[in-house]
Amino acid sequence: MPHGKYMTRRALGALGAGALAGGAIGATADGGPGGLQLPKEAATALNRLREGLDRFIKGSSKHAHADINWRKQLVNSQKPFATILGCCDSRVPVELLFDQGFGDLFVIRVAGNVVAPDVIGSIDYAVDHLGTPLVLVLGHSNCGAVTAALDEMRRPVRSVEPASMESLLRLIEPGIPKSLLQVKGPIATERAVEMNVRWTVKQLNASPDLQEALRTDRLAVVGAVYNLEAGTLTFL
Ligand SMILES: [Zn+2]
Repeated sequence: MPHGKYMTRRALGALGAGALAGGAIGATADGGPGGLQLPKEAATALNRLREGLDRFIKGSSKHAHADINWRKQLVNSQKPFATILGCCDSRVPVELLFDQGFGDLFVIRVAGNVVAPDVIGSIDYAVDHLGTPLVLVLGHSNCGAVTAALDEMRRPVRSVEPASMESLLRLIEPGIPKSLLQVKGPIATERAVEMNVRWTVKQLNASPDLQEALRTDRLAVVGAVYNLEAGTLTFL
């Protein structure tokens, strides 16, 4: 994974931001996975994702927000309602999965949906400049990056990988508990994928750059795993 130079707020601002965040979000509301209480706007964003996912699963996707008139409205600004940190995997196309169109989602895709300074910089931009109230960390079954990290951890001696690949794997490995190395079969990968999402969520929640937004309920971070075979999404 390329580790580009960390993007400053100033540089990000020059990318062409739309409306600024509309201030602190009000009291918590329901809508979070696993009974998690989310700020109202984050819960609304999550519900929109759930509704889109529902349409996708039922085969009734609308494919809205794609025509030329809609896109013209987006030329000078954007107001995506959620940020998605997903994997690069071609089998998990984010907008199709959630049945969203142009301008709806701020999407960061990197192998293994890992956290690196560049990723946090992008999320920080989405929160501070675009006002997205929700980050969804989206892992998926059969993730090649997570599988590679698990394999690497099981080797008695590390294999010789290019520095960039080594760097990527080392971002994933801390989230995989050693106890999982003894588990055999696909269940190990499945659990590693889930642990990797939890690890990413944990790091984002601990990021100093995002603390102010998290503390004032302008941002909530949730995790989910997409199952390639079933076509379903499980919130963690
Ligand atoms: Zn993947």
